Amino acid sequence: MEHPENDQQYAGLAVNKGIQQPPSVNPYMKVHRRRRLLSAAEYVEGILRGDVTILSQAVTLVESHNPDHEAIAQEVIEKCLPHSGKSIRIGITGVPGAGKSTSIDVFGLHVLKQGGKLAVLAIDPSSERSKGSILGDKTRMEKLSVHPNAFIRPSPSAGSLGGVARKTRETIVLCEAAGYDKIFVETVGVGQSETAVHSMVDFFLLIQLAGTGDELQGIKRGIMEMADGIVINKADGDNVDRANLAATQFRNALRLFPLPPSGWAPRVMTYSGYYEIGIEQVWNMIYDYFDFVKKNGYFAEKRRQQELYWMYETIDEKLRDSFYHNPAIEEMLAAKRQLVLGNRQSSFIAAHEVLDHYFTLLKQ
Ligand code: GDP
Repeated sequence: MEHPENDQQYAGLAVNKGIQQPPSVNPYMKVHRRRRLLSAAEYVEGILRGDVTILSQAVTLVESHNPDHEAIAQEVIEKCLPHSGKSIRIGITGVPGAGKSTSIDVFGLHVLKQGGKLAVLAIDPSSERSKGSILGDKTRMEKLSVHPNAFIRPSPSAGSLGGVARKTRETIVLCEAAGYDKIFVETVGVGQSETAVHSMVDFFLLIQLAGTGDELQGIKRGIMEMADGIVINKADGDNVDRANLAATQFRNALRLFPLPPSGWAPRVMTYSGYYEIGIEQVWNMIYDYFDFVKKNGYFAEKRRQQELYWMYETIDEKLRDSFYHNPAIEEMLAAKRQLVLGNRQSSFIAAHEVLDHYFTLLKQ
């Protein structure tokens, strides 16, 4: 008998059957394996089917710095290209606080009312994914983020502007292949990123604020020249008059600029993203623009020019990478830095010697 205490003679005493010592490893614990990478063909098939999970995974590959991932990503992009291009691409810029996310939420719902699917992407080279100043989290676009036909993706994490922008552009290709026929690209209206966004969108919307007293001073002329539409947000409550005044000032300022190559004279209007006033007018203007440039041929011409721009951008980026990440060049550059800093060699000669060395290496 296992437990003699259970013998009849010890009435009133009972010892239960012992339980086994549990194993030190929880058998119910899920073993987390790394997600298997799909093949390029599987990604493409999923994307063309409009599978959001596969689209997201493919975008993650596009953003990856791992050479194996990059290789698959390039193949996926290549195969998606013939299925891309059938969308309207709209760049939206404005300083932090201008109301970009509030507006995109409302604009997004507005355009989705007519059907179709919307992808919202961002270019924010200054940010790591977690602490990005734009699109850091989906809660900034409350309504869109739960809309079944909206795909929101934060900016690729920090890197060179060219690199971040190229990845966003590649993501556009994937989204279009997945059937997204409206693309918004958001960027912060400070710095160089507008130029990058401008070179991948059809329409560039500049969101401005009134009431700072010096409306026109804070805006770089270059950004205004890029804008196809300028909209003054927060035209609500006692801010309406100031918004109208700002609109007049912008209209006057725009008159001094020559007509852009599109032939479209940029329009200025006021609206309120928060109170949803004037949203339809803003979108009527944007749709007018598309009608106009599709008729006069500028739409297609601009896209062709953008293709060229990105070819050169990609070449520039790859050349720089190849040069600066070459171990021999890195070593030589470190030595040359010391010489130049110590005034022992001129920057010109140092640069030539490093470049000559690089070209010799290429020939080997
Ligand atoms: P972002 O930094 O450009 O994305 O700006 P947000 O969309 O986060 O908006 C910045 C602040 O402005 C928030 O507190 C919004 O609630 C507020 N805001 C945005 N749009 C409007 C508007 O149309 N009217 C008013 N009164 N406030 C707004």
